[in-house]
Amino acid sequence: MSVSVENGAHAVTSDESSVVILGTAAALADFGRANTYLAVVRQGRYWLVDCADSPIGRLQHMDIDPLAVRGIIITHFHPDHVFGLPIYLMGLYLLGFFKKRVRREPLAIYAPVEALQLVRAMVGLYQMQTWTDMFALEYHSIEMRPGSVVAEDEDFSIVSTPTHHSVSSIALRFLVKDNGHSLVYSSDTAPCPEVEALAWGVDLLIHEASGAGFGHTSAAEAGAVAARANAARLLLVHYFPEAKPRLLSEAQRTYSGPVQVAEDLTAYAW
Ligand SMILES: [Zn+2]
Repeated sequence: MSVSVENGAHAVTSDESSVVILGTAAALADFGRANTYLAVVRQGRYWLVDCADSPIGRLQHMDIDPLAVRGIIITHFHPDHVFGLPIYLMGLYLLGFFKKRVRREPLAIYAPVEALQLVRAMVGLYQMQTWTDMFALEYHSIEMRPGSVVAEDEDFSIVSTPTHHSVSSIALRFLVKDNGHSLVYSSDTAPCPEVEALAWGVDLLIHEASGAGFGHTSAAEAGAVAARANAARLLLVHYFPEAKPRLLSEAQRTYSGPVQVAEDLTAYAW
């Protein structure tokens, strides 16, 4: 299994954090690219942010133990951001049996209140809680206000802000508690001051670049957000394949810092 690691400079070491881009596609995925979702990893344990595709195999391909999940955060209830959740939960359940590591503690799922109700209804259709030794799910709603605290664990504190999208959606900021490093993920949004404020001075801004209008952002607009936020690096995700050749130069028109166009199944240190 090969893990490609990009930071510009060096491989991710165990005392660093990485974000593993599990998919980069906008709402229309294709054979080579999954819809955008990601894992934020430190010490081998990860937060899953959104859940497209069939995550178990992709996590394993990236040398992440799927069972080492800290929690799941769903940014909003659009199909490309949530449709993988039922099969992911089933995969965790089965892996627990196969690896003799049946999960005893509940697994927490966080989402804005509107999305949380729908996620709960969607997962409920599968009646997983009737399965023998299925782990419990804990549902936590995220307040739709700037700086809302999502969760905190031994390594990360996570806050969110509402974004400008066609349904209620959030951007997330991860802070590593012991070194102060920070990452912001915009999820789906038009360019907005809330994401700029959340991303102020961030080490890595992961911004969508699916195109201007309709609650989304172009690469040039993402660059402008990164510039206004004084972000140290910009990584573009959630893009259409036809636009890929232009993304880098468009973002560089508005942002003078380092920009990368994310690739599926790639880890970025931060
Ligand atoms: Zn969306």
